[in-house]
Amino acid sequence: MKGLLRAVWNGLLLRCPECRREALFTGPFRMRPACPRCGCPVEREAGYFIGAIYINYAATVALCLSGFFALDWLAAPSLAVQLTIWPAVGVAFPLYFFRYARSLWLNVDHFVSPPPASPRLRRS
Ligand SMILES: [Zn+2]
Repeated sequence: MKGLLRAVWNGLLLRCPECRREALFTGPFRMRPACPRCGCPVEREAGYFIGAIYINYAATVALCLSGFFALDWLAAPSLAVQLTIWPAVGVAFPLYFFRYARSLWLNVDHFVSPPPASPRLRRS
């Protein structure tokens, strides 16, 4: 459990899952192909980051639904106001969360099934 929490934390820090030092991204939406320090591959195969899309979608739905009901409970705005706010959040939040979703997916997947060349596997 501790290792999984460390993987999630490392994912939120947008760092390499192997050495936990290097940044995974070189730009807002650009990932490195591999870690420059340890050589850990970032995209193992085509379509590897489909899981990140699920993470991003789940986080967006959770935010919009909980935000809708929380705002309704706290301030009771009109439905028109709610329908202005939450679709905009539903479009903007996935763009912001894109890097985190990919990093979370990569780090948790690396924890669950490290690549064959991983030093973590060579040690055991
Ligand atoms: Zn690394």
